[in-house]
Amino acid sequence: RVVANDRKDFLVADILDLQPSTFDLGPLSREPLPGLHMRTRAFIKVQDGCDNHCTFCITAIARGPGRSRPLPEVLADIHAALDGGTKEIVLTGVHLGSWGQDLSTGLKAGFGLHFRDLVAAILKETDTPRLRLSSLEPWDLDADFFALWQDARLCRHLHLPLQSGSANVLRRMARKTMPEAYAALVESAREAIPDVAITTDVIAGFPGETEAEFAETLDFVRCMGFARGHVFTYSPRPGTAAARMNGQIRHAVRKERNAVLRAAFAESERAYQQKFLGKIMSVLWESTDQLSDAGWHVEGLTDNYLRVSAVASEPRWNQIDSVKLVALAGEPGDSHLSAILVPSVTLLRCKAVV
Ligand code: SF4
Repeated sequence: RVVANDRKDFLVADILDLQPSTFDLGPLSREPLPGLHMRTRAFIKVQDGCDNHCTFCITAIARGPGRSRPLPEVLADIHAALDGGTKEIVLTGVHLGSWGQDLSTGLKAGFGLHFRDLVAAILKETDTPRLRLSSLEPWDLDADFFALWQDARLCRHLHLPLQSGSANVLRRMARKTMPEAYAALVESAREAIPDVAITTDVIAGFPGETEAEFAETLDFVRCMGFARGHVFTYSPRPGTAAARMNGQIRHAVRKERNAVLRAAFAESERAYQQKFLGKIMSVLWESTDQLSDAGWHVEGLTDNYLRVSAVASEPRWNQIDSVKLVALAGEPGDSHLSAILVPSVTLLRCKAVV
């Protein structure tokens, strides 16, 4: 069967003859037990679906309403992963911060139904060396949330999708935040969590985005000191409100804006990395290759999402070591090359002190 390109987002639903509104509304299946495969990081899906209606988003349409996995089930998977040797648990979900809103039963005694209760419960009930949160919508958080970081096992990394730095564009996107509120939230996070890495997503060339609105986004990105940013060139998704909007931006303009934003993020990322030169930090090694009889090349992440490489005297895969960060490798490059090269050119070279 041949499927047209513009139907690719509906591939599974089309083949199974399902309507997007009813697609994937069944109970959540258990994730495989990641620890049994000895993975450094275990991605534990705690939630699926979304009740928001961002006008560009096909995910909420395809995945249906938000559904949360009960805490005992989440804890069981985390314990299994830790038993298998995993050192870092990453909580994931389509709309992660909404965890608990649909739950009323199946909970563990003594814990509430807010996402912060889930995080607190995992920290209390498990001995995970690291707990990382994946993408969180900014409107789900408040300043009190950051008190959780008093537990140092919680990684100092917040991925807060921005999508646009223009209030007008955010309204057209039906996002539930504004640039001022976003900036205030980030300020609260930085006050509560020293050296926290704030990463984000931005869409370039959303329908109707004027030059002035794009400039607002660019200024906002330059001011925010992001540790990293992903730029998505707007692409209309059939079935979304944005795909039907007037003022679709020419593809060439969308690509240009993407490149400008990527360059801004590359600068911002480098500035963030430079702040840590000379510091001692902990790294969880995710890969290791033998260089010679005398040494191993190891690479991994700090809790605040700095990618680090080092030479160690033994393979240190899946170990957490203290290192001193001594040099920054690679150049930000031009806007086109930096997007491709970001993973390889922004490594912080460091000398392990293991
Ligand atoms: S972008 Fe995120 S919050 Fe918005 S509708 Fe899609 S999944 Fe939900």
